[in-house]
Amino acid sequence: MLKINDLKASIEDKEILKGINLEIKEGEVHAIMGPNGSGKSTLASVLAGREDYEVEGGDVDFDGEDLLEMSPEERAQKGLFLAFQYPVEIPGVSNTNFLRTAVNEVRKARGEEPYNAANFMKEMKEKMKIVSIDKSLMNRSLNEGFSGGEKKRNEIFHMAMLDPKLAILDETDSGLDIDALRIVANGVNTLRDGKRSFVVVTHYQRLLDYIVPDFVHVLYKGKIVKSGTKELALELEEKGYDWIIQEVEGQN
Ligand code: ADP
Ligand code: MG
Ligand code: MG
Repeated sequence: MLKINDLKASIEDKEILKGINLEIKEGEVHAIMGPNGSGKSTLASVLAGREDYEVEGGDVDFDGEDLLEMSPEERAQKGLFLAFQYPVEIPGVSNTNFLRTAVNEVRKARGEEPYNAANFMKEMKEKMKIVSIDKSLMNRSLNEGFSGGEKKRNEIFHMAMLDPKLAILDETDSGLDIDALRIVANGVNTLRDGKRSFVVVTHYQRLLDYIVPDFVHVLYKGKIVKSGTKELALELEEKGYDWIIQEVEGQN
């Protein structure tokens, strides 16, 4: 599904990612954790194709294709979903219209018929149930005046509608409260179907009580310094990151 090989990236001439290696197979859920400033959001942003980041080396294969060669739109059309793209507010564009355009672009790229108004409404109704999102949010401008919880719910709703192959959720800086954690976790767990893959970027061990990952990776100073299963997350909850940092620094 996704294979990251020796990925290096910088921002404003500062090297942040220093050789990331990671393979995510179909249906797997990977958690990426690590202390603040270690490069978690940078990794998510580079995979999303954000402009401010310069790829300095390495490659990323997404479903047999070169991800780094694709525009952000192509990445989305090929089935990559990045949660943090959506909390932007777009005054004057309704949530429904935004989503209909996005969903139909993805369908077109897959060689499927675009939804007409009736089919789209039917699909919306079905997916709204998954996140118990209020109907009144559909006709409002995208995210404008939405509460934090409503934005989160809407983001997960968009994920359900776009039906991605791989979803990357960067939750680090969004200050999730317990309700938002549950919304995200429920969405992921409902959409977890053995085929779809997830990368959950978080520094809250708490989230992983709800979303049980197949693998946990610790990012530190731009490298994955430790990988394990869900037990690693429990160990981190108990002992923090210091012991890993000491292990890494001790080797240098
Ligand atoms: P994390 O998500 O793990 O907290 P980030 O990827 O946000 O880490 O940041 C990694 C490093 O990159 C930090 O040292 C941060 O200060 C730096 N960084 C991130 N964004 C920028 C930016 N726009 N300009 C300069 N430095 C940045
Ligand atoms: Mg941070
Ligand atoms: Mg971050």
